[in-house]
Amino acid sequence: MNSAIIIGSGIGGLTVGALLARYGWQVQVCESHRIPGGAAHSFKRRGFEFDSGPSFYCGLSDPTSLNPLQQVLQVLGECVPAVAYDPLGYYHFPEVSWPIRCKTAEYRAEIARHTPQGANEFARLEQRLLALYQGLQGIPTLALRADWQLLPLLLGRYPLQVLRLLPQLGAIQGSMADLMQDVQDPWVRRLMDLECFLLSGLKAEGTVAPEMAFMFGERSRSVVDYPIGGSGAIVQALIRGLHRWGGQLHCNAHVEKILVKSGKVVGVRLRGGEELQAPVVISNATVWDTYQTLLKPEDLPATYRQQALATPAIASFMHLHLGIRAKGLETLAGHHVVVHSTEQDVTSPGNTCMISIPSVWDATLAPPGHHVIHAYTLEPYAGWQRDAGYTTRKRERAEPLFRALEKVIPGLRDRIVLELIGTPLTHARYLRCYQGTYGPAIAAKQGMFPSCHTPIAGLYRVGHTTLPGIGVPAVAASGILCANTLVSPQQTSKLLQLLNL
Ligand SMILES: Cc1cc2nc3c(=O)[nH]c(=O)nc-3n(C[C@H](O)[C@H](O)[C@H](O)COP(=O)(O)OP(=O)(O)OC[C@H]3O[C@@H](n4cnc5c(N)ncnc54)[C@H](O)[C@@H]3O)c2cc1C
Repeated sequence: MNSAIIIGSGIGGLTVGALLARYGWQVQVCESHRIPGGAAHSFKRRGFEFDSGPSFYCGLSDPTSLNPLQQVLQVLGECVPAVAYDPLGYYHFPEVSWPIRCKTAEYRAEIARHTPQGANEFARLEQRLLALYQGLQGIPTLALRADWQLLPLLLGRYPLQVLRLLPQLGAIQGSMADLMQDVQDPWVRRLMDLECFLLSGLKAEGTVAPEMAFMFGERSRSVVDYPIGGSGAIVQALIRGLHRWGGQLHCNAHVEKILVKSGKVVGVRLRGGEELQAPVVISNATVWDTYQTLLKPEDLPATYRQQALATPAIASFMHLHLGIRAKGLETLAGHHVVVHSTEQDVTSPGNTCMISIPSVWDATLAPPGHHVIHAYTLEPYAGWQRDAGYTTRKRERAEPLFRALEKVIPGLRDRIVLELIGTPLTHARYLRCYQGTYGPAIAAKQGMFPSCHTPIAGLYRVGHTTLPGIGVPAVAASGILCANTLVSPQQTSKLLQLLNL
């Protein structure tokens, strides 16, 4: 029987592990943390269930969604109950707050209230995004693989859909800014920069067009929803799928080294010395952690290693996790994005604050009469250390998050019953992640996210430092690409038939 060891149980690691188990492989997932899920893990404190990272999801309750995670859950025989909601959230600029409606016509109508000319320009952009989404729609992510066998598989199974996608090839390789070339309205341009930043960590110039097309299309044609039980419920569903198909998950199992002999991977060594053998090892750790820490320098060609380690990284985060009294907040919405200053760039640390209050959709996440809050903003990793000034600095740097929350919940500070502030050091420690980064800063047209392949035979990579990039749908797709690459196209076709894809 084929066997693989997966390093890390982020959504990428769990996806590739569960899918390989589904394909009949013997799979062991080794997770360093005591809680699985990586950026998507949930944690409990005093009756509050906190998301550590993602809270914007789509398509969980729609079997026809293009979300690769939904397709993976279906082949595993799993599902995640979720609450659909609209608007997606509220964007708060200094001069105006407005709801982000999921359906494009309503979104456009909101834009028209502020700038009728901008709404006309947006309408044309929307057509381009939806055309790209429709092009992508014909080919399920579950069919994709990262080798030459992709082409015969696609031409054999989806010839018409491939033909339909051809006119979109230019847009697929382009940036969101390319699609926006005739958008002059500064208000719409700023809005698109913000939307791109929320998705990729980069503005329109740096964000690849298909990523935005996917998001707009799913928002409008599928459903925006939140998993009952929080992001941890998604992690648990993938783990159930992994177990159902015979895979194993070991928590508190930190991999110290990937073992390589004569250019081939042979297994891993855990902290404590235990060695696990397998001819295939898949790292869900970042590119920097995998190549810098888990391998010896001599395991990789020097130039390749140097270039990979030079991949630029997006900053880390300040996090605020709060438990608050909910009395009088009956109409509170679950998502908010506060931009403090329009003079400053949306990417400036502290300027754009993301707020999620998931107990609005799932009251079980907080004790009765309370809400659970996660707010976060970009924060550079450099300069952070646990020295005498750490606590003071932590409070200072969390202040933009408190101010953002006060815009949404007046009198917030008097409501707090539980407060946890996280810095880039906290983020890096809990996610076992290089500099606590959100992911690689690989701008559209300036480079591509690398595929799952590495120069070492038997060693593969998945997750947000591989193709297609950052975000839960993307890392689920990275897991699919890797698992499919390791099996025959016939095995993949069988799974696709099961789902009528
Ligand atoms: C604050 C925040 C908010 C976000 N919001 C959203 C959102 O709303 N919607 C969305 O779609 N995306 C969002 N994202 C992005 C998304 O959550 C991530 O891109 C995605 O979850 C990353 O998954 P991954 O598979 O790359 O692995 P990670 O989540 O990075 O997990 C990697 C795992 O590997 C483990 N590991 C590392 N090294 C070792 C080792 N040596 N041995 C054993 N285990 C190891 C780690 O402990 C970790 O569990 C957000 C991210 C953050 C940080």
